[in-house]
Amino acid sequence: MERFAGEGARATLSEGAGGNAGASRVRWAHWKGNGCWACPACSIPFLKSDQRFTTLSLHDKFGRAISDLRISITDRCNYKCVYCRTGNEGALYGDLPFADYLRMARVLVGMGITKVRLTGGEPLLRKGVVNFVRELSCLRSAKPLDIALTTNGHLLADLAQPLKDAGLSRVTVSMDAVDPDNFTRITRVPGGYDHVLAGIRAAKRVGLGPVKVNCVLLRGFNEDQIIPFGMFAREEDVIVRFIEFMPLEEDRVWSPATVVTLDEILARMSEYRPVIEIAHARSETARRYRFDDGLGEFGIIAPVSHPFCGHCSRIRITSDGKIRTCLFSVWDHDLHAQMRRGATDEELAEFIRGVVQKKEERHHIGEPDFVPASRTMVHIGG
Ligand code: SAM
Repeated sequence: MERFAGEGARATLSEGAGGNAGASRVRWAHWKGNGCWACPACSIPFLKSDQRFTTLSLHDKFGRAISDLRISITDRCNYKCVYCRTGNEGALYGDLPFADYLRMARVLVGMGITKVRLTGGEPLLRKGVVNFVRELSCLRSAKPLDIALTTNGHLLADLAQPLKDAGLSRVTVSMDAVDPDNFTRITRVPGGYDHVLAGIRAAKRVGLGPVKVNCVLLRGFNEDQIIPFGMFAREEDVIVRFIEFMPLEEDRVWSPATVVTLDEILARMSEYRPVIEIAHARSETARRYRFDDGLGEFGIIAPVSHPFCGHCSRIRITSDGKIRTCLFSVWDHDLHAQMRRGATDEELAEFIRGVVQKKEERHHIGEPDFVPASRTMVHIGG
């Protein structure tokens, strides 16, 4: 990989130019021909030629601004959660050198992405993730780049401080039960609970907050965890978020009856303590609630019973470099193939713009015409 030569690049930002009111405009100016446009201290693979380009923020054909990028850096996982995996080990798809994800992120940040979330598989399985976060944190967007991570937390205790130091903004930990036995039953890996709890506490200690703890509820498995999670949010001072189970599992066990819905979660939690809804931003996926005494917050992400596709601001890149415009897409768009054939950054940006125009209006979960996604969650990156 080529390294920054110490001289060479400058980025300037301006707002609302180019006849697109409110859109952010980013102009990267390179000089001396061999400079990284971002932080001189990092090793971002840079543009070959002197280059100037101006990009307006990304919108799809339904007018949704695309500002949120998820990158899966591996589809391997060290857990085999019953609602996600078949129980078999291993990856289905390859992964790419970090330099390739970084180039994709750089181009996309230049197009209006302001938030990058690393996911997987289990992203902390990937050696070099801390350095990757450091290099991402050198990217400059119209706003400071928000870098988040979704992890099962198993390896987080030791990595929280290095990740924070590298520039990670915050972390979301997935955890589907707050007692060790139930936790093992779900993850199918013994002894994980204490590791994850230690990871959550380390993340809080080093300032990777607000720490969010995501729990997928599956009927007949862990719906008894609703109130314990309410208590957990209060005791551990984390934001618990319940996620409705979606048909994205390897084993195809989903049916409408397996979904524990927002209404049910609220009703059950209210038996514990009165809950009050808090305002949430339009683009936020979770509806937010607090308890009547002000202690503890939880959220509910309800893509099945209360879809929020109309506010979707996301695209995803899979570990093997494909763009997915929706979790429920039935096809991928091969961004890495464009890179392999030698596309310039402008050509990648053009390709991305075309792909974003194909972003699906909404998902069709539970409808007669529902077609299962072409990949399951672990191989997309949740
Ligand atoms: N390994 C990391 C983790 O555990 O957070 C990142 C990948 S995991 C696929 C991302 C998130 O997707 C987790 O919170 C997981 O619980 C959630 N998830 C997996 N399958 C799901 C499904 N079918 N419906 C809803 N959420 C799901």
